[in-house]
Amino acid sequence: LPAAAPRSGILGRLLGRTAPDSAPRRVLDDAMLESLEELLIAADMGVDTALRVTANMAEGRMGKRLSTQEIKELLAQEIARIMEPVARPMPIYAKRPQVVLVVGVNGSGKTTTIGKLAAQFKGAGKSVVIAAGDTFRAAAVEQLQVWGQRAGVPVMTAPEGSDPASLAYDAMTRAEAEGADLLMIDTAGRLQNRADLMEELAKIVRVIRKKDPSAPHNTLLVLDATTGQNALSQVATFQKLADVSGLVMTKLDGTARGGVLVALADKFGLPIHAIGVGEQIDDLAPFDPQDFAAALTG
Ligand code: GDP
Repeated sequence: LPAAAPRSGILGRLLGRTAPDSAPRRVLDDAMLESLEELLIAADMGVDTALRVTANMAEGRMGKRLSTQEIKELLAQEIARIMEPVARPMPIYAKRPQVVLVVGVNGSGKTTTIGKLAAQFKGAGKSVVIAAGDTFRAAAVEQLQVWGQRAGVPVMTAPEGSDPASLAYDAMTRAEAEGADLLMIDTAGRLQNRADLMEELAKIVRVIRKKDPSAPHNTLLVLDATTGQNALSQVATFQKLADVSGLVMTKLDGTARGGVLVALADKFGLPIHAIGVGEQIDDLAPFDPQDFAAALTG
């Protein structure tokens, strides 16, 4: 899937600009390593990860002459090495319903991602129920209903402002009664009041555990890749609010600053289950570390 990677290749452009292919091979020395580090940082990789990538790349190669193409390939190799362990699809369990809690800040692409995932699961022959748990955002509930229609999946809603936990409980009851394979629960993303949000998420988890002590089986954090280094602090925050089991990175189409994915993988090691590559229902792709690394450096 060529769409499964950022098209922008910011790192590739930066590398190309400082060392055009027509330029002679350059010696890999401290000055060159430093400029590579700066490029990686400019591509949103963060300082620690940039240093690790360049150090690994330089090992055993100091003093050697390298072409721009060779530099790109070596960097891609190091980036793919970091990304390979985290490229894992969302695990599917025998448990029915498998409860998937979806968290993330407003605007990250939660609603869209739930719609896309629901369509994929439906396409794989699974029955899905969605609970519109962001009961305080009427627009979010409406959007989710639109996505439910597109995916052919029922969306359970509750009156505006009502308790998301009681909706989650009702949705569990329905999913169990219907023998649904998956229950996906949308949640609020108001980070302005963290204590509130933490209590809200904890309550949802408490009530669904009354029905199934092993739920939720997945807690997906949806992150907008274009927010760059912000994505790192969002992971740290949501790990305190919920037991995040995996990531979906959205908006990797267009001018995504994809370098932050490398920093995320390096720092947190959370699985990246899928990436959003557009606004349409089938614009959700598996995360391919080789494609990603090639596109980032290409
Ligand atoms: P929510 O507030 O987290 O539920 O976010 P939404 O699902 O409503 O998405 C916010 C905006 O991002 C919408 O305009 C979506 O169409 C857009 N969006 C979501 N995922 C992607 C993606 O992968 N690529 C692009 N280009 N846009 C996306």
